[in-house]
Amino acid sequence: MSALLTVTDLRAYYGQVQALHGLQFEMKEGSMTTLLGANGAGKTTTLRAICAMVRSTGSIQFAGTPLLGRSTEAIVKLGIAHVPQGRGTFTSMTVEENLQLGAITRKDKEIASDIERMYAHFPVLKQRHTQQAGTLSGGEQQMLAVARALMLRPRLMLLDEPSFGLAPLVVRDLFRILGKINREDKVSILVVEQNAQLALELADHAYVIETGRIVMSGTATDIASNEDIRKSYLGY
Ligand code: ATP
Repeated sequence: MSALLTVTDLRAYYGQVQALHGLQFEMKEGSMTTLLGANGAGKTTTLRAICAMVRSTGSIQFAGTPLLGRSTEAIVKLGIAHVPQGRGTFTSMTVEENLQLGAITRKDKEIASDIERMYAHFPVLKQRHTQQAGTLSGGEQQMLAVARALMLRPRLMLLDEPSFGLAPLVVRDLFRILGKINREDKVSILVVEQNAQLALELADHAYVIETGRIVMSGTATDIASNEDIRKSYLGY
């Protein structure tokens, strides 16, 4: 499989503060790749750089198209959907309205059938389709945020800490569905996670970030069996 995303010498800056120091990684089409790292390592910034939400230099190629210099909107149109930490659903709108909004840039006629597909992935959203998003539980809101991003029909979905603040069983359910979306709907997924164990169970490839640089990469199985990783991130 060819590279879907190629990041080379990526540096990102918040004012005078440099958060990424020449980050380099590659993601294959169809893969589920995870970025692991401690707090402040630069995981969120990496996703923000891909979406043109932080000042960056270097190179990011998406299916051969350079992303740096493009607007966030243009990057979304190329097929990249970003689910930021904290979800960001429209709280005063219903579940279904949120899903419709997710498809706002689309002009095709398959939006209704895609909403049904999202309900098949996330049955709880179907049960609650008329409920205001702000009144959903944390897990349901995270599912809605993922479903809304998928309504863009992205080729690549960027997920920032999807497990944040969710109960372990809910997280497991969410990751099971993400695996299904990756395999069945052929959406490539780049996921940033504190829950390294779960991320490594599901991902095929993993990169470890420390202070804005990649310090380790490999198949998820190799990374999960690495002793340093086990001690630092998996706690055994
Ligand atoms: P976490 O797991 O805690 O979310 P992270 O790996 O996602 O951490 P980032 O949020 O990417 O880390 O932060 C990387 C570095 O950039 C940190 O040193 C952080 O303090 C800094 N940083 C992030 N956002 C800003 C900002 N808006 N202004 C200044 N510095 C920032």
